[in-house]
Amino acid sequence: MTGEEMHALVERLYPLCRSITGDGVRATLEIVSEHLDLAVHEVPTGTPVLDWTIPKEWNIRDAFIKDPSGRRVVDFRSSNLHVVGYSVPVSATMTLEELRPHLHTLPDQPDLVPYRTGYYAETWGFCLSRRTLDGMGEGPYEVVIDSTLADGHLTYAEHVVRGRSDDEVLISCHVCHPSLANDNLAGIAVAVALASRLEAPRYTYRFVFAPGTIGAITWLARNRDRASRIRHGLTLACAGDRGTLTYKRSRRGDAGIDRVMTHVLRDRPHTVVDFSPYGYDERQYCSPGFDLPVGSLTRTPYAGYPEYHTSGDDPGFVAPEAMADTLEALWSAVEVLEHDGRYQNLSPYGEPQLGRRGLYGSLGGRSDTKQAQMAMLWVLNLSDGAHGLLDIADRSGLPFRAVAEAAGALEGAGLLKRVGEDA
Ligand code: ZN
Repeated sequence: MTGEEMHALVERLYPLCRSITGDGVRATLEIVSEHLDLAVHEVPTGTPVLDWTIPKEWNIRDAFIKDPSGRRVVDFRSSNLHVVGYSVPVSATMTLEELRPHLHTLPDQPDLVPYRTGYYAETWGFCLSRRTLDGMGEGPYEVVIDSTLADGHLTYAEHVVRGRSDDEVLISCHVCHPSLANDNLAGIAVAVALASRLEAPRYTYRFVFAPGTIGAITWLARNRDRASRIRHGLTLACAGDRGTLTYKRSRRGDAGIDRVMTHVLRDRPHTVVDFSPYGYDERQYCSPGFDLPVGSLTRTPYAGYPEYHTSGDDPGFVAPEAMADTLEALWSAVEVLEHDGRYQNLSPYGEPQLGRRGLYGSLGGRSDTKQAQMAMLWVLNLSDGAHGLLDIADRSGLPFRAVAEAAGALEGAGLLKRVGEDA
């Protein structure tokens, strides 16, 4: 998938009214399933999941605030951000003063509509721009939220690309935000593109599309055994803004994925930050009982941009090139995960004569000849059975790909033997 194709997917998913439960999540997964084989799971309201309980399912058809002339001053149909997520149904006539405690604005960003939710409290409210509120008279207003909060299900989905190994790589995206493009849709689109690119891998890759917090908790509650098979994992979010990439380490801080992502980002503008128990679902995967090797990849991190959780996070805020760049970084990580390994130099006494084996000649004319030669010398020198290819790439400052190609050429010439998997 190209950056433009990922962006088109973001635009298509953007109008849907997602929440932690309900038909918006189902419609989202339905569209994702046009690209990937999804196993969709429905977990009933009231089901205990770890320390939590699956909540009632929320669905909404319409909502508005109508002024005395009958005009919709605030209209769910123009943006689903206008209704506080999980609002209970309302049908009332109210003055502005009565309505005011239920209205949410951003005084410092007067043209933007905030994103608010009230998942675990029976409440209702509207979000609107400060400018809209400033233009409202005393009323009275007709106030309607046509929603239902009833026993139903929480919906999440998985896509699995089977590998030669049962060891798994987890990629997890939240799918619970309504019309917010960078904060959930860009991550979904990049995950779809990554999943589409994987073919007959060594690891098994599991993509989880679940509502934030409660969805990840539900997945963990239902996959306690499988969780121990996760060798590497990432939460993927905010994958499409124009900022540079940010990697947040796993709770362990020295997991394989931490080393892989640090290496992959080394040659690009980036930031690496330590784990903290906040942000996306790495909080759940890295809770101490699980302590999984799961980091988080974003561009500008969680809450790090003014458009975050506002109507400013629209498809225009997300750039096709940025999503393509996030995908390439992930693909580089996959290459390391797939190809890292330890080798033994079979001719370790003095440097073997490479020219005689055609290993210099085969490189003639390539602009990266010098790099390829250096990679061979580093691989030969450090392949003592203890150092892996990622170790060699880190220590030499060479790209992993050059090191892996050198190892392939040396193995082909009978100078190296693979002695173990790494990463
Ligand atoms: Zn968010």
